[in-house]
Amino acid sequence: TKLFADRIGRIEVSATMAVTAEAAKLRASGVNLVDFGAGEPHFPTPRHIKDAAIEAINGNFTRYTVVSGIPDVRKAIVQRHASDFGSDYTPEEAVFTTGGKLAIFNLVQVLIDHGDEVILPVPYWVSYKDIIQYAGGQVVYLETEEAENFRISAEAVEKAITPRTKAIFLNSPSNPAGSVIAPADLERIVKLAHERGIYLFLDECYVYLQYTGALVSGGSFTEAKEHVIVLGSLSKTYAMTGWRAGYALGPKPIIAAMSKLQSQSTSSTAHFVQKAAIAALSGSQECVAEMRADYLTLRDQVLTRMAEIPGITCTKPEGAFYVYPNVSAYLGKPGAQTTLELAARLLHEGHVVTVPGEAFGTKEHIRLSYAVSHKDVDEGLDRMKAFFAKL
Ligand code: PLP
Repeated sequence: TKLFADRIGRIEVSATMAVTAEAAKLRASGVNLVDFGAGEPHFPTPRHIKDAAIEAINGNFTRYTVVSGIPDVRKAIVQRHASDFGSDYTPEEAVFTTGGKLAIFNLVQVLIDHGDEVILPVPYWVSYKDIIQYAGGQVVYLETEEAENFRISAEAVEKAITPRTKAIFLNSPSNPAGSVIAPADLERIVKLAHERGIYLFLDECYVYLQYTGALVSGGSFTEAKEHVIVLGSLSKTYAMTGWRAGYALGPKPIIAAMSKLQSQSTSSTAHFVQKAAIAALSGSQECVAEMRADYLTLRDQVLTRMAEIPGITCTKPEGAFYVYPNVSAYLGKPGAQTTLELAARLLHEGHVVTVPGEAFGTKEHIRLSYAVSHKDVDEGLDRMKAFFAKL
């Protein structure tokens, strides 16, 4: 008899986690690394959010809560979203989850069946593909053009639709390329999905880290609500990655099904984390604006320094905190056939952590997270320049 269930064979270890583990091993052996690998803010969680959690723990908010999150946290989610994006969700249309990743996982598990097609633009965040495959779904990749900033158009989405399409999975601003879907295109995609009876999954975990243009959400188009599910996270917006705080907004029956699944797995998130989330969502948003302003200067610093390396080209990200440079000029040589090999050598010889583009579905790129100090950007790019000069 076989040991493992088929479904666990359909997924791989998250590539970013694998890079983190490899880097940790090197660091433990005493090597000093500049880490552009991890996709997490370098800022500490803002003080008022931490204080709210400390107060909640001391006030004994340390027990189970209702599975989908206490009413006040769901109210805080829908109010924040309504005032920023003009959406009109009720608290029953919101579920609080143990991280945005769990919202994605639960949504896919409750809607995607064996053989269902899910349209996924390339490059994509690593986990979407595996989560869809774990549910038995079929990923339909939608190629985008680097020359167009990896942007997704409504026409391209429409062409990828088949009778088996159950959902379209979008992420804007995107990880890894930082590309943003133009509001007009988003509106057309939302309408298209609604007319065709297809679900639109919109991962908006970087929605507040956008540097140009108006902020829009899939939830802004209230007339198409029935087919839109917004996936949110406090991790990046409020520098709260380790707290595990995320949410989904969508039609009541879908949210109820996600809560049912959650009731048989993680149950509720910690009560004091929910209290901290309320402080984050309902308090001053000044901290978000401050962090965004710093990410913008970091982006420009990375792009300026990257341009000093001959042969490397890089699109200008409009959001999130990643750059996705094209390193094809350095590929195809012995020991650097793929970006997997190149990133490994950059780690071991250059002492810079990056993530190979293979993890995101492209063959000529590496991803750098610039959620690091300005000093680290300079040091890391000095090291990269020296490394590529010798390659
Ligand atoms: N979606 C995207 C595109 C991400 O990059 C991440 C984290 O890296 C997540 C979702 C999940 O974030 P979390 O589970 O910390 O809320």
